[in-house]
Amino acid sequence: MTDADTPLFCARCVKRLAAGRGDYFVVVIDAVADPTPPEFTEADLQHDVRREIARLLAQLERYSEQELMDQVHRRTVIHLCNRCFATWIENPAQGPRGE
Ligand SMILES: [Zn+2]
Repeated sequence: MTDADTPLFCARCVKRLAAGRGDYFVVVIDAVADPTPPEFTEADLQHDVRREIARLLAQLERYSEQELMDQVHRRTVIHLCNRCFATWIENPAQGPRGE
């Protein structure tokens, strides 16, 4: 089954979307965790850095590679019909019912 055979639905109103008719938008959401380097205080530098690193590595071993990636970067693709897109793009941070 190719992508063209997969039925598409609007992520908001669940209207079926017809490919090739200019009926909808493909919205790619790339969410990246705060990319700013962390700040260290004098107090942070007083800690036993080797022990902190060992503790952190032990903590990281509990997660899969995918789980760790999901904590810093998420990409999702949604389809929106033209009507839903027109409303959404004006205020993407607002939920569908004004939440
Ligand atoms: Zn819609």
